[in-house]
Amino acid sequence: MRKRILFVMAHPDDETFGPGGTIARYAHSGEEVRLATATRGEVGMIGDPPVTDREHLGEVRARELLAAAEILGLAKVHFLGFVDGQLASVPREQLVERVVELIRRVRPHVLVGFGPEGVSRHLDHMVMCEVALSAFDRAGDPTWYPGCGASVWAPLKLYQFEIAQEIFAGWDAPLSGVPRARLTTFVDTSEQVETKIRAFHCHKTQEKDVRRILERPGYREFARQETYVLARTRLPGLPLPEVDLLAGIPEDECCES
Ligand SMILES: [Zn+2]
Repeated sequence: MRKRILFVMAHPDDETFGPGGTIARYAHSGEEVRLATATRGEVGMIGDPPVTDREHLGEVRARELLAAAEILGLAKVHFLGFVDGQLASVPREQLVERVVELIRRVRPHVLVGFGPEGVSRHLDHMVMCEVALSAFDRAGDPTWYPGCGASVWAPLKLYQFEIAQEIFAGWDAPLSGVPRARLTTFVDTSEQVETKIRAFHCHKTQEKDVRRILERPGYREFARQETYVLARTRLPGLPLPEVDLLAGIPEDECCES
């Protein structure tokens, strides 16, 4: 049985710079992995030297994301159509409803989003953390958004992508994470490091960030594992820590659509 994982992020590049190895690992082992991105990254960098102008940046970044998605093996990218840098001023209900609608259509067993500080403390990331939590809670509840056209679906787990503070203490980067002891899930992405780095280079407008990240001491070694906090689960008694986002997902559970 093919299991379905939906990543819910804010900008093109979040998927690659963060959980890209995990995406590649599950996608290339035959699971259906999709990505929802709230924005097209319209206020990011335009490239150095410039790859495009500000007016076309959203389009260009969407294409960069699709190129990275192909390398990572994503089955589909869903652009939610919100504007970069402005998620905190969008009515929260609107964002949650959009993600709930998508969850009900895609019917993921596992949802993956940002942690409360969104790795970089980008406000959009922090907003999307809260959106994923609310969407996880509401998607399976028929009293929420009854008119959205798809039947309810309750994902079984919600993970938050996090990095252990102990790791980036040596990087001199303005990142935010959790103490290693709080991590619940350690995904071996050692076979996906080069794939992830190939996907990095699709984000040409963000090449400055790409170089900055890849030059961090020991980055390739660090990228051999990606880590998560299990924030919500509907599966009681899961043994933690664990090494698999799909641990405990029942085999016979997804025969519909
Ligand atoms: Zn981002």
